[in-house]
Amino acid sequence: MPSLKTMVIGCVDPRVDPNAVLGIAPGEVGTLRNVGGRVTPGLLREMVMLREVVRAGGGDLGPGWEIVVLHHTDCGITRLEGRPELLSGFFEVDRDRPAGQAVGDPRAAVAHDVAVLRADTRLPGLRASGLVYDVATGLVESVVAP
Ligand SMILES: [Zn+2]
Repeated sequence: MPSLKTMVIGCVDPRVDPNAVLGIAPGEVGTLRNVGGRVTPGLLREMVMLREVVRAGGGDLGPGWEIVVLHHTDCGITRLEGRPELLSGFFEVDRDRPAGQAVGDPRAAVAHDVAVLRADTRLPGLRASGLVYDVATGLVESVVAP
């Protein structure tokens, strides 16, 4: 189990390795990465499965755990804004709805994703927060407090 009882959801972009950006040592947090660090239905299913893995080990991925959603500026997913056919599949929404996922604005996107996490009844009791890492300055901005 991660010693800090923390999961980080981040982007696959090699510039934004969550451990490097947040100064995390090996063993301290678990990390899930996908395109954009997005809270998609697929990522939520993975979290639910992970919760069962933790339970099978005698713990619980629930109250007392922190989930940090880490988005960043200049993310490659912004290049897909005009590709609703890809985005609707990724987010599992109707083809005319991917605009609601705010792929062009990392601050809006991280706020959206933290709200999705907090609303998921399969993952009760988690504390979620949202950060945006600026790849130009190296600064991390807290957009959604825990
Ligand atoms: Zn990215």
